[in-house]
Amino acid sequence: MNHALNIDARNANASRIDETTPRPLPTLAGMTREELREVAIACGVDEKKAKMRAEQLWRWIYHYGVTSFDEMTNISKDLRAVIADKYALHRPKLIDRQVSVDGTRKYLIELAPGVECETVFIPDVARSGALCVSSQVGCTLNCTFCHTGTQALVRNLTAAEIVAQVMIARDDLEEWPTSNENRKITNIVFMGMGEPLYNLDHVATSIDIISDGEGIAISRRRTTVSTSGVVPKIKELGELTGTMLAISLHATNDGLRDELVPLNKKYPLVELMNAIRAYPGLGNSKRVTFEYVMLKGVNDSLAEAKALVKLLKGIPAKINLIPFNPWPNSPYECSDWDQIEAFADVVNKAGYASPIRTPRGRDIFAACGQLRSESQKVKASVLRKQRLAAGEGAANAAS
Ligand code: SAH
Ligand code: SF4
Repeated sequence: MNHALNIDARNANASRIDETTPRPLPTLAGMTREELREVAIACGVDEKKAKMRAEQLWRWIYHYGVTSFDEMTNISKDLRAVIADKYALHRPKLIDRQVSVDGTRKYLIELAPGVECETVFIPDVARSGALCVSSQVGCTLNCTFCHTGTQALVRNLTAAEIVAQVMIARDDLEEWPTSNENRKITNIVFMGMGEPLYNLDHVATSIDIISDGEGIAISRRRTTVSTSGVVPKIKELGELTGTMLAISLHATNDGLRDELVPLNKKYPLVELMNAIRAYPGLGNSKRVTFEYVMLKGVNDSLAEAKALVKLLKGIPAKINLIPFNPWPNSPYECSDWDQIEAFADVVNKAGYASPIRTPRGRDIFAACGQLRSESQKVKASVLRKQRLAAGEGAANAAS
């Protein structure tokens, strides 16, 4: 029986609909250039012309953001009809959209039945707007201050699913076609759900698509990937993507960091710092952002501020002090504002920019570390049983 399985009613319905309705066509939104070339060939385009057709499709999809083949006026009606017969242009389903009193927008997106992620648009950060995207549903790591860390990993997102988060936000903000002026989304930050370096291939492919100047055109320099410290992948991230690096540091000694960011037990601070120093292209115009969550009485003493300055010596860095954002039953409190300012003062005086990140979207649970969806990993065997039960249910209802 369905209700014996640990899924909510909406998901049970979703799997039932899946059983009785035809599968939707695959969507072109989120595909790479090479995939679009293969689509063209699959639709009968001559191999020699496939690259050019893929280029046209690319422009319609990522520059104009079209959701209908009718708009693709430089492609013949006949070819459009063939493509439309096999493919679609939809994005994953937007289930919920919340707008904070401060203008922050949070999107809950259904990637597949029962698989949901969150994406957050944060307007007006230094005359720019950042889109915070997720790279995984849930997370395998358990940083003790992070709400996402309480949700077990459901799965990695595909490159297309990461790109789709940007497309959905652009749809909502009416940002098509791509413009070079007065953009709302100017920056992409991989600071949503999940650990991007545990999904590096898909993250890198998504950045190739998002940064392409013929499409969405948000440059690599305006893209930041944040990691809790997956040391063996840090250099590779730089080589593959050329993006800005952010490190979730949060502690200046191994004892405390082991506790707050348990991954530190595997990759302690010395190794982490060495990997950061080896990040390609670091310099004054390409600094590493260190994120430091302010936890009252845990990591916010002035002695720790001094230790932080010492630890970062020689690394082109800026330090983002993040007031702790609480979540239900979270085991910490945010440091007092005076303490955060005094901490920032020590770091500033040592010559580092150390902006205090104003909490955004707390009222809709969209602030750093507050993201979490209800998705749970369901074993393949359970899914099978679930489908069978749903099929039987539908058969019973029909009889
Ligand atoms: N997994 C990656 C990407 C997530 S980024 C990483 O950990 O870097 C999300 C940022 O918010 C990280 O710096 C994370 O440490 C921080 N964060 C997590 N929980 C938080 C909370 N409750 N309050 C403030 N910041 C938090
Ligand atoms: Fe995962 Fe990052 Fe949260 Fe740690 S802070 S649990 S790595 S999402």
